[in-house]
Parts: sequence; structure tokens; C-alpha cells
Amino acid sequence: MNQPSDSVNAKALLCKNLLELGDEFYDPAQPARFPESQLRYWNEPLVHALGWSKEFSFDAEKRLRFQEFKPFASSLPAPLALRYHGHQFTHYNPDLGDGRGFTYAQVLWNGKLWDFGTKGSGTTPYSRRGDGRLTLKGAYRESLATELLDAMGVNTSRTWSFFETGEKLTRGDEPSPTRSAVLTRFSHSHVRIGTFQRLAYFKNEKAIETLLRYSARHLITELDPNESLDLLAVQFLKNVSHRLAHLTAQWMMAGFVHGVLNTDNLNITGESFDYGPYRFLPNYDPDFTAAYFDHQGLYAYGRQPHMVMWALQRLGESLQIAAPGLATEETLADFGEVFSDSIQHMFMHKLNLRSKGQTDDVGLLRTFFHFMETHPVGFERTFFDFFRRTDDHEAWRLSPQNSLYVETPEGQALTALISSFEIDSSARGSHPALTRKDPVTLLIDEIESLWKPIDQKDDWGPYNKKLEEIRSLRALTDLKTVKPR
Ligand code: AMP
Ligand code: MG
Repeated sequence: MNQPSDSVNAKALLCKNLLELGDEFYDPAQPARFPESQLRYWNEPLVHALGWSKEFSFDAEKRLRFQEFKPFASSLPAPLALRYHGHQFTHYNPDLGDGRGFTYAQVLWNGKLWDFGTKGSGTTPYSRRGDGRLTLKGAYRESLATELLDAMGVNTSRTWSFFETGEKLTRGDEPSPTRSAVLTRFSHSHVRIGTFQRLAYFKNEKAIETLLRYSARHLITELDPNESLDLLAVQFLKNVSHRLAHLTAQWMMAGFVHGVLNTDNLNITGESFDYGPYRFLPNYDPDFTAAYFDHQGLYAYGRQPHMVMWALQRLGESLQIAAPGLATEETLADFGEVFSDSIQHMFMHKLNLRSKGQTDDVGLLRTFFHFMETHPVGFERTFFDFFRRTDDHEAWRLSPQNSLYVETPEGQALTALISSFEIDSSARGSHPALTRKDPVTLLIDEIESLWKPIDQKDDWGPYNKKLEEIRSLRALTDLKTVKPR
């Protein structure tokens, strides 16, 4: 097969920038050999966008690169399990690292550096007692999360593919034995806050500097990689803080609860990744917790901004090892402001309303959330009902929640206030997804019910139909493009 880089007009160009970091940052890893290979998910729109559709038109080629992980000639010579530590539920854990995955290729595409990473590709030096595997249900769930977040315009890693691999796995949180899979993740870096924490733990100033300069050169390219170390550390921390504030606002507006906001699950590029026990909100509830093992509700929906800020403080402390003059608190002081500003803009965008200025917009936001707090309404449903009013200014009357809009004081206040705002984009206002009866959601009951036919009859039809439905949402909202002031 031709190397994609040779044959696709250098659209997505294979590269191996990761090697610049050196051996301190990773260990070579071996992909596992699996007894079976059934392609269950292939992200053709993404593959097409990279200009690689032709190269991967046959299943044998897909399998070679995305199940067997044969190295690409112009990229990394061998898969690399990345080293990192992290705070898990606020407890420091120096026993982390890629335990069931690795990075095995990189590309330059769309002006950015992207990694091909894996999940479930076998054991590595960091597997501890784990089997290095991913359950099929885990792959299924991650693909749904990345599809929906991406369709809403949340800055997320993408699922490139997953294969069912024919092993029987044992898990405490799934009926076992359970089916296995290997997934390829396409993401804008795997440099985590925990990657810096590990270097700080070993007091490796030189390596922190190397990683900072690498990040400025390839990932956060607004920064000057040749800047003095002290200044670079400040600029880097501030930049990451703004990116993560923006991402957190996207999660909040998507009604998304990541579930496990450990510092090793936060990418310094501000891209969301690693979807385990996530949930989408059924209704507005700051205490809503995704992970069944998060007994304290540490990573509950409403605590996400706080916990991301907490993680950024840990990043600041780590950088201080190499840049002792770094004033972490001061550098992070505007996190809250950037977050609220993003929320406000994204809120107006998610309702397709034109801003009337900060005071009026905030007034609407408060009224909207007060209504959602005081009535049993669907989170996505309420946004959907008010978004739909382009042709019919009172389209919310079509909603099963209509009586709450028209008969309660909070609903009346909201409908009256919202009517005083103009529609922002007529193009988005006539998006085909608005002709649906109900909004597209991905609540846990549906995730479970779509899994049943796969589990019981190996019927992937309902899942594939759901993917189509999710993809039909594209361009209705794009939370990524809503920049803070
Ligand atoms: P996660 O909860 O997916 O972010 O993973 C936390 C840590 O556990 C990382 O170091 C993972 O590589 C590791 N890990 C999770 N599942 C497994 C597994 N089945 N085998 C080996 N390591 C694992
Ligand atoms: Mg993780």
C-alpha cells in the first residue's frame, strides 16, 4: 500500500515529532495479537476529511493499520506507551502511564499535530495488574460520546475506528465474561497535566523545559518556543487555563458530565478525551454524578469548573519546579472570568439568539436556568424547544413541556423574556434537525437499550442508526467557534 502521505497531496502528512521528546517520555510497546477481527466502527467522514478514504477502502488495510498497528513508514518506528502520573480523585498516583494503549503515529493536518492513539491494544510496562484490554461495550460507549460531542461542536478527541477482537474479558462493572475491542483514537496530543506532574515528581527540570518547548513548537503554537523559560511557563499556564475554561464551558452547555476529571485525563491542548463512565444530563442538576464509583460526587456536573481549576493549580505547581518564579494563583486568576464569558456566549449560541449586550444576556441566562432548576424539564429538550422558533415564534407550544412554559410563573417569565430576543442565524434556524419532534439526546437508558441488540443478537442496526441521527446534528451548534470576548 502507498503511504497516505505520498499519495494524498500532503493533505494529512505523517510525521514523528514525538521522537523529539526523547526516551524519558515513553517506552516502546508491542501491540497484542487478537484471535478475531470484526470492524464495528469506522469514522468514514473523518477518514475522508484527512484524504485517506482511498488508502483505506479495503478491510485488510484497515485491519493492518488500526488493529495490528503496523507502523507507517514516515511516522513513529514503533508504538510508544506514554509515561505520566496524575491525581485520581485528588490522590496522587505515581503508578500510571499508558497501561492499555500507546501512540503509534502522528500527522500534521489542518495546521495541527494529531496523534493516533489506541485503547485496548495490549499490555505495556504500565499495565500493573490490568489486562491491557478494552471491552466492546467500552468502545461502543466511547464512540457514541465522541460522535455526539463532536456533532455539538465540543472540542473532543475523535474515535477513528474500533474492531471487535474475539477475547473474553472479565470486568467488575459489566456482566462477565464480556466481549473485547481495540479502538483507535484520533486526538490533538496526549500531553496531559499528569505528564508534567510526573516530571515534577522526579524534579526533572530539564525534561519539563523540553516538554514546554515541544508544546509551544507543536501544540500551542501561539507561544514562542524560544521564549525565556520563566516567561514561557507563565504564558503556557495561562493559555492552557483559557483552553480548559473554554472546554469546561462546552461540557456545561452540552449537558455533559465527563465523570473522571483526574489530572491524567486532561489534555493541555484543551481537547476533551477518555470517555469511561460519562453521562449526559437528563435534566439540569448540578449534583448529577456520572461515575458509579464517585461516591462523594467529586466530579459532579456542577463541580466540573472547580475541579478543572484544581487540576490547573497542580499544573502550575509542576511547572514551578522548572520556573520557580511562576505565580500560579495570579496566572490562573482569570479562569473564572473566561469560563463565565464562554458560558454566556455559548448559551446564546445554543439558543440561536442575538446578543443584546451582557446585562440582558445574563438576565436571560439566569431566567432560563431558574426555570430549569424549578421544573422537571429535559435539559436538551428545553434548549431545543426555544431554538426552534425561527418560523413560528412560539414553536415551544409544540413541546410536551408546553404547559410548564405557559402555566408556571417561571415559564411565563422565560417565554416573555426570550421573545424579546432576535434570532441570530437564519441558516442555523432552518437546520433540518429542527424539524424533528424531539431533540437528539444520549441518555443512559438509550445507551443501554441500543446495546441490547448488539449484546443479544449481534445486531448493530440500531447503533448505526443512532450514529446517523447524531451526525444529522452537525452545524446546528458549534460550541468550539464561540470564542470568549
Ligand atoms: P483511565 O481510568 O482509563 O483513565 O485509566 C487509568 C489508568 O489505568 C491508566 O494508567 C490506564 O492505562 C490504566 N488502565 C485502565 N484499564 C486498564 C486495563 N484494562 N489494563 C491495564 N491498564 C489499564
Ligand atoms: Mg485516562
